[in-house]
Order: sequence, then C-alpha cells, then structure tokens
Amino acid sequence: MAILPQPILNLINAFERLPGIGPKSASRLAFFLLRGQDDLANTLAQALLELKSATSYCAICYNITLSSQDVCDICASTQRDKSVICVVEEPLDVLAVERTGGFNGQYHVLHGVISPIEGIGPEDLKIKALIDRVEKGGISEIIIATNPSMEGDVTAQYLQKQLLKFGIRITRLARGLPVGGDMEYADQNTLLRALAGRQEL
Ligand SMILES: [Zn+2]
Repeated sequence: MAILPQPILNLINAFERLPGIGPKSASRLAFFLLRGQDDLANTLAQALLELKSATSYCAICYNITLSSQDVCDICASTQRDKSVICVVEEPLDVLAVERTGGFNGQYHVLHGVISPIEGIGPEDLKIKALIDRVEKGGISEIIIATNPSMEGDVTAQYLQKQLLKFGIRITRLARGLPVGGDMEYADQNTLLRALAGRQEL
C-alpha cells in the first residue's frame, strides 16, 4: 500500500487533533482541500496564520481582541455600564450574552473553571485580575455567569468568598439554563431569562 505524501499526512494528522474530527473526516477534509479550488486552501491557510498572530487578550477583561488594540470594544465603549461585571468562563460566552442584547455592562473572562480533577486551580484562571478590578472601585455588582456544572458552581462559590469583603452585590444566573449545559449553546430567550432572574449569592 502506497503511503500518502508527507504534506497530506501532516494535514490529516492536524485535522485529527480537532474536537469531533476522526481519521475518516480528517482524510476527507484533507483531500477536499487538495482537489478543491486553490483559493480555499489559501484562504484557510491565511486565516489560520492570522488566528493567533492578529488576536490577543483584552488587558482589562481578557476577552479576545485584535492584537492592534489594548482593550476590547466593550471595555473601550463609553456607552456601557462600567459598574456591572458579568463573569464568564470563555470568550464564546461573551458572544452568547451579547447576542441576547439584554446586558449593557462589562465582562470578565476567566478562561476556564476551577477543576481539581483536571488540576486547574484559581491561580490558573483570571481570578486575581478580577479581584484587582473590583479593588479599584466603582463596581456595584458582579454577575457570575459560569456554566451550571459542578465546576461552574465550585468556581462561583470561590469567587463569592473572594469578593465578599468588598460589600458589593454578587449574583448568579438563574437556573433556567440546562444543568451541565454550556452557556454558549443556550438559546437567547433562556439566557435572557437567566440574566433577568439572577439571584443573590
Ligand atoms: Zn475588554
């Protein structure tokens, strides 16, 4: 059996490392790009190169932003309420809340959740940066919008303990979200209800 040329194998191997892509799909995608129009492979290659080089994290909230800007558009906006911070796990969750159109405050992206099983502790997340933000003052409410999972709950409890001394309002999204479900998959109305029905911690 003839072995595939290395450049094709390289692409197949890379595709296989993506979530939800098995060996068969990886091969199909690689051959699709090989046979397909040149500009698709080139467009994809260019987009992949820029994915990391042209993006970075916002210096305030750690959302994804262009590497050419220090802070993201939400943090830079003068139209948004600076006194409310919605704390989420991932940048995709910012997108999910933004899509509801029902929130006009700021965000803070933790980049994960506390998970003893996976060896992820508070120091591995952007928690210190959040506490620093609150310490600076001007914050009246922290909405903890971690996913309704065990790790999400543990993280919320940890945050509550850390923020208690500041005497500000600390709330958690209402339990409208499916337990164990991801915020990013929740439909807009469910998320809006969870926001509106948020409860004091
Ligand atoms: Zn920001």
